[in-house]
Amino acid sequence: MTGQPAGTPCWERAELPPQPQLHGVVTADVVVVGAGLAGLSCAYHLAERAPGLDIAVVDAQHPAAGASGRGTGLLGPRAGPALDRAVRRFGAATAGRMHRASRQAVRDVLDLCSRLAVPCGLRPGEQLMATRSPAGLAALARQARACRELGLDVPVLTPAGIRERVGVSYRAALLHRPAATLDPAALTCALARACADKGVRFYGRSPLLALRPGDLVGPELVLPHGRLYAGQAVLAVNSAAQALELPVGTVLPLEVYAVATAPLSPAAYELLGGRAGPAVVDAVPLAPYFRLLPDGGLVAGGGTASVPAGLAAPRLQARRERAWARLEHWLRGLHPDLARTRVTHRWSGRIAMTGDDLPVVGPVPGYSDVWYIGGCGGHGLALSVAHGAYVAGALLGEPDPGEPLPWHRSRAPRLPLYGPVRPLLRAGVDAHGWAVRRVC
Ligand SMILES: Cc1cc2nc3c(=O)[nH]c(=O)nc-3n(C[C@H](O)[C@H](O)[C@H](O)COP(=O)(O)OP(=O)(O)OC[C@H]3O[C@@H](n4cnc5c(N)ncnc54)[C@H](O)[C@@H]3O)c2cc1C
Repeated sequence: MTGQPAGTPCWERAELPPQPQLHGVVTADVVVVGAGLAGLSCAYHLAERAPGLDIAVVDAQHPAAGASGRGTGLLGPRAGPALDRAVRRFGAATAGRMHRASRQAVRDVLDLCSRLAVPCGLRPGEQLMATRSPAGLAALARQARACRELGLDVPVLTPAGIRERVGVSYRAALLHRPAATLDPAALTCALARACADKGVRFYGRSPLLALRPGDLVGPELVLPHGRLYAGQAVLAVNSAAQALELPVGTVLPLEVYAVATAPLSPAAYELLGGRAGPAVVDAVPLAPYFRLLPDGGLVAGGGTASVPAGLAAPRLQARRERAWARLEHWLRGLHPDLARTRVTHRWSGRIAMTGDDLPVVGPVPGYSDVWYIGGCGGHGLALSVAHGAYVAGALLGEPDPGEPLPWHRSRAPRLPLYGPVRPLLRAGVDAHGWAVRRVC
């Protein structure tokens, strides 16, 4: 279908619970639409905290079909804009709370992985936000200052400190902990299996077409071959919010890219960090990043993004080819051995961005008992799991949900995206990618 993400990620296909198509009239206490990390985490935490609740999960395709199964698996603390910008926009107290919430989200995923005993190649470690460019150095300095002012423990690494971890000539880095790398598709599928074990019902190949407030109890969901009536609904559809015309502000689908290689030579693998090596992201937003795989290969992502809406399939494919070619060119510059390493996988996926870089987690305006989760951008692995658990608590009316999420809200800022504005927006995203390539 036009505009769908392309290529197969490098993750092995994991076992999934049975998911018949939804036919006829179905009821549930809670329906979760979207079987990515957010939706499945919500279903899992609901089932765990309220055994006996009748929960249905519906997906347009199958669990892990969206960004959750197509990510690159860097688990690290990050929420919303870079810390210095967060301080300027939201004030120091909120920015600090955001960062701490994202750190907690990472810890919770590590805990979930050990509770579920997920075979997902989990490697707890460090995440370096590093740079080789003057622009990145300036961005890093601003972030380091913000960390200091907020009292966050984010050490600055000199080139020597970086070389102890990765043999690439970066000029400076911030060391983020806790962090890890993992196979995001395996985690998503393991969550689906854990939900099924707790009695959650799955419906696959059942796209939500429309949502109505419902005349009886709760919302009515219209699907191609039936209807679903539920007391409460969670729309964990991430980048599909716009296609469904959900009134959650502007949540813009962006296509992003990744490649994976065959195993590197043992020398190159060790030099790039080895088994305990950190994931390395760039201080310049959207710049390429990499991590090593347990099997000896390397995954790289980033570098550019596209606004897929309104692009015909051939143009979209041409953009993908260019993005993958640039990523390959970039990774070959990391180490001479990589010049000869085969790229085995090239793929893309859809993330969901908001105008202020913050997610949307909250009740959908105009509908009672309907929540939306999405808009984490390219940093949603840990946050999506946290959001699912948070919404589960809210639906169950848990007496002490703790502090509300800093981005608990029903709408992102609205951006005028239609008519002549869309090409302008596309040009803006392209120009940003071009600028990134010049400095990185
Ligand atoms: C290439 C790539 C690399 C990434 N790398 C990282 C990374 O290293 N670290 C990180 O933190 N984050 C990363 N991300 C982002 C992260 O994967 C996402 O933020 C996160 O997985 C979002 O989870 P989700 O459950 O909200 O959405 P999704 O996983 O997108 O799930 C949404 C689900 O909704 C379903 N759906 C959509 N429309 C409908 C409908 N009408 N009816 C029914 N179901 C529907 C979809 O089929 C999908 O299964 C990456 C993303 C991509 C694409």
